[in-house]
Amino acid sequence: MDELLDSYLDCPEMRELWQQYVIGAKTLITNLDSKTVYLHVVTYLTITPWYNILKDYLLIVFLYQFLKSGLYNVKAYGIIGYPRHILRQGSRSMVKWLLSSRLMRSTVEKEVSKARASIEHDLILNNDCLLDFPTLPKKGLREDHIIEELDILQDVLPHTDWEEGKVSGAVYHGGEDLIRLQSIAFEKYSVANQLHPDVFPAVRKMEAEVVSMTLNMFNAPIDEGACGTTTSGGTESLLLACLSAKMYGLKHHGITEPEMIVPVTAHAGFNKAAYYFGIKMHHVPVDPKTYQVDLHKMEKYINGNTVLLVGSVPNFPHGINDDVEGLGKLAQKHNLRLHIDCCLGSFIVAFMEKAGFQNVPIFDFRIPGVTSISCDTHKYGFAPKGSSIIMYRNEDLRMHQYFIEADWVGGLYGSPTLAGSRPGALVVGCWATMVKFGEDGYIESCRSIIEAARKLRRYIEEEIPALQIIGDPQFSVISFTSKKLDVYELSDRLSKSGWHLNTLQNPPALHLAVTRPSVAAIDSLCQLLSSTVQDMLNDPDAKPSADGTSALYGVAGSVKTAGVADQLIVAFLDTLYKLTPGNNNTK
Ligand SMILES: *Cc1c(COP(=O)(O)O)cnc(C)c1O
Repeated sequence: MDELLDSYLDCPEMRELWQQYVIGAKTLITNLDSKTVYLHVVTYLTITPWYNILKDYLLIVFLYQFLKSGLYNVKAYGIIGYPRHILRQGSRSMVKWLLSSRLMRSTVEKEVSKARASIEHDLILNNDCLLDFPTLPKKGLREDHIIEELDILQDVLPHTDWEEGKVSGAVYHGGEDLIRLQSIAFEKYSVANQLHPDVFPAVRKMEAEVVSMTLNMFNAPIDEGACGTTTSGGTESLLLACLSAKMYGLKHHGITEPEMIVPVTAHAGFNKAAYYFGIKMHHVPVDPKTYQVDLHKMEKYINGNTVLLVGSVPNFPHGINDDVEGLGKLAQKHNLRLHIDCCLGSFIVAFMEKAGFQNVPIFDFRIPGVTSISCDTHKYGFAPKGSSIIMYRNEDLRMHQYFIEADWVGGLYGSPTLAGSRPGALVVGCWATMVKFGEDGYIESCRSIIEAARKLRRYIEEEIPALQIIGDPQFSVISFTSKKLDVYELSDRLSKSGWHLNTLQNPPALHLAVTRPSVAAIDSLCQLLSSTVQDMLNDPDAKPSADGTSALYGVAGSVKTAGVADQLIVAFLDTLYKLTPGNNNTK
């Protein structure tokens, strides 16, 4: 308790006040002789009815818990920060409540349904020359007919042409012949299911090798038990890392109300894990200069319920790597689990040193405090989508993500990851991709992607003073913000010219995750950025379009409309499953 108080009672007046309390309490206790105390207790117990004793007991427990959590919160958020935090949370809920009240509801609903219509208009693309299947066709179609329809679909509803590299991230393409190889792998193993390793022994072997190759890339101590599993993607890897930490905390430290401490820049998959598994999440701000997570603030959130610390190499928004060495020390000091999210960094970060880049900070299992790492084979590993790896320092950690049921009527059941049946073809596609690229292939891909990313960064720094690079990005993602112009409007204008960058918020910014296709297109992006920014600076009065990105983020970022952005996201997700625009789901 003293240590806890020390850490936040930086203010001398508060410290003095506290010391006076302590002295007062000590005098009181020493002046009480044990006989008086004993008498008091006995009298209390004899004259108080049992239900009042129970009531007092519950009150004391409640007050103790209340004070304890209050103290921890003050420690984490600061003496001024905590009331401010409560106030902000309160006003958000208040606005949410107001907006859903009868008074405001119709106005909000009108706005939301306007936005909904616009989302549906943008996403639900139909065409009269397409066949529609709201229900199963009474009679199955012929194969040539289906293939023809697939061609028509591709022609009438074409995808954004990522082939020219004008999309940030999204398509991590490994080359034409790779697609052919992956299709062959799919064809050979399309019925395979890892749930039945006895039926598909070859798939089991390939899966084990995919995990082993990745562990070696991240310098995992395999001799000391380092291990992992494949998963369906980065999000599942993060979910499992959090689940493992939660169950590990329960088993080894008896933690029943788990908390994790996560940088604000970490992937939303951690929020999802908190939501799914009932883990309380503390968001730690980043240092405003480096954009790395602020370790000093992170330490303040640590308490007896903490089960996991998190860092990213690099993070999704800004492509910045957190200080893993510092995180490792923090984790070891407090005996905590530490997950490093290398989902995005994947096969780029793993090959930076071998590709000859200098001063790459160490971030993998060579840092002793790191207990788990996630790596997306379906990003810079170029495996088919639906493929990622979660790695652990030892088997005990991995075991805590397993689901085991020995009493099921259906037989003894165990499953290593979230899904039950798993598509073996994906793992085979991943295996084929990894052995085709080999170390030399990935080193070459790392070199060209990093060079392109650094070229973009240098160009922005030297040629476009209206834009500012965020932090010191070391890897494939370059993000920038602007003090002079609306970056969302810039994003809309770039989209019209065929370039799709990612939009970010807090602060408003854009990023490009450089991929193999975009390497060759970097020069044209530099030119386009430069001319578009110039146009915007020349015409400062031009209004951003009312339904553009800027308007959307205006809604999302404002406290006045808290909760409206949530409704827009719901509208977007609903739209994914609609056949036609409007409320009715039939034609
Ligand atoms: C992409 C990504 C993930 C995982 O996302 P999935 O879409 O589930 O593969 C996790 N963390 C970071 C930093 C990412 O960029």
